[in-house]
Amino acid sequence: MSTELQTQLQTELEIAVEHRRNFAIISHPDAGKTTLTEKLLLYGGAIHEAGAVKARRDQRKATSDWMEMEKQRGISITSTVLQFGYQGFQVNLLDTPGHQDFSEDTYRTLAAADNAVMLIDAAKGLEPQTRKLFEVCKLRELPIFTFVNKLDRPGREPLELLDEIEQELGLQTYAVNWPIGTGDRFKGVFDRHQQKVHLFERTAHGSREATDTVMDLHDPRLKQILDKELFDQLHSDLELLDGVASELDLEAIHAGYMTPVFFGSAMTNFGVELFLHYFLEYALKPGNRNSNVGSIDPSYPEFSGFVFKLQANMDPKHRDRVAFIRVCTGKFEKDMTVSHARTGKTVRLSRPQKLFAQDRESIEEAYPGDVIGLNNPGVFAIGDTIYTGMKKLEYEGIPCFSPELFAFLRNPNPSKFKQFQKGVKELQEEGAVQIMYSADEAKRDPILAAVGQLQFEVVMFRMKNEYGVETTLEPLGYSVARWVLNGWDALDKVGRLFNTLVIKDLWNRPVLLFKNEWNVNQLLEDHPSLKLSSIAPITI
Ligand code: GDP
Repeated sequence: MSTELQTQLQTELEIAVEHRRNFAIISHPDAGKTTLTEKLLLYGGAIHEAGAVKARRDQRKATSDWMEMEKQRGISITSTVLQFGYQGFQVNLLDTPGHQDFSEDTYRTLAAADNAVMLIDAAKGLEPQTRKLFEVCKLRELPIFTFVNKLDRPGREPLELLDEIEQELGLQTYAVNWPIGTGDRFKGVFDRHQQKVHLFERTAHGSREATDTVMDLHDPRLKQILDKELFDQLHSDLELLDGVASELDLEAIHAGYMTPVFFGSAMTNFGVELFLHYFLEYALKPGNRNSNVGSIDPSYPEFSGFVFKLQANMDPKHRDRVAFIRVCTGKFEKDMTVSHARTGKTVRLSRPQKLFAQDRESIEEAYPGDVIGLNNPGVFAIGDTIYTGMKKLEYEGIPCFSPELFAFLRNPNPSKFKQFQKGVKELQEEGAVQIMYSADEAKRDPILAAVGQLQFEVVMFRMKNEYGVETTLEPLGYSVARWVLNGWDALDKVGRLFNTLVIKDLWNRPVLLFKNEWNVNQLLEDHPSLKLSSIAPITI
């Protein structure tokens, strides 16, 4: 490439990165993720009337999806990527599955995100799934933006919610806006940055943008619009906040120590646009990533990206597989030829897809921070890097998250041995579930290790439907896994273990299964030389 072209590309990349923001929403089921997503799309102009995403979801259910199970259970198992424009930004929302039994895909999606939005139900505060996902964000040092939802319903005191976030998650909070009234009397929010009051009016079902009247805090009309009690309360809340709260600190936000907090109601659209506006102002743009050759800037002119998710049979008519790739550097162009770091092979990236919910649209180009879907003829595995250029590039692998459910998967029909082996291998490669084996050589059946019950069901369902094998499951009564970082020798020295099952992962590394955390601590107390980790060591 000529120097002139190179400079041109560099500038193009810098502009693209400057205008891209990418995030995933973390929440507990029912907090309002689907509703908020829909409203963000509404404000982003990607849909014109809210209800479209849900309708699409329902339509998907009706027309049968990549998995019959989605229909049967009425849940969305897969995560997709939504892209929309707002105020000159290209926003990528990496959607995570929102059902109770979440799976490793949820975790992996966070590996591809640059920012996280923590969505909280104002009446419930922090809930278990949010806490778990928060831990993953913390590990990845992602900036976290908090949206406290459902202010139109009776909820907990806003200050109490801030306190809960500070105490339980150890995050400093900064309220960017503050609710004016709650429940039936939720009138709007005060933008502390601009020092403006936003009063909203409800629209039918919140299907259109809410009317937003903006006025000064000292505008005499405000006293008339709000009743005296609300007016006084707003003033005293704000005084209190200014007195106790920390200053907004962008560096602390970017490092994941401080969370900007927004109050609103996704259903009635109150506070949604303000949230989007400030989120885009404060969020991290696509940044550097660690690789085998050090930290790489997104404007590095060669293309590179990594696979964070594989998905089979999204379209039952085609029975294909799609590899989801997060673009990290350079510019992706349709039909480009790349190197596959793990195998050293050359791969042509044909039929790339942009993903909007389940619709697939062919794309011509993509930039750092974007996600593309590629048809995967079996070459890609989770964590794989692809790149162009002469210099071999390999990103840090995506850690395997600590499974909490374990079960032997059995094939009662010996004539199906081959199909069984093939199915287990392919589902493992796809990342549908982690596969481990007993340390006892006599027990050859694979052990499925999952973070959610649904993963087991998915595996059994797909073994039957795609590989023709009826399997059975024998659950193991353990719920905590620890990798032994100092290996088999260290374990041998410890001798016999009680209340613990020794198994091995696919790389033949020792993993201990415990009934509970207490047993883990007990073992560590007795044998402080053991180095245990709840997350699998990364293999590059
Ligand atoms: P998800 O499971 O997190 O995707 O949650 P949904 O978006 O499906 O919302 C769960 C329920 O909460 C639905 O009945 C929504 O209509 C309701 N909901 C979502 N946002 C709000 C809100 O701001 N106010 C009220 N009152 N209800 C809401």
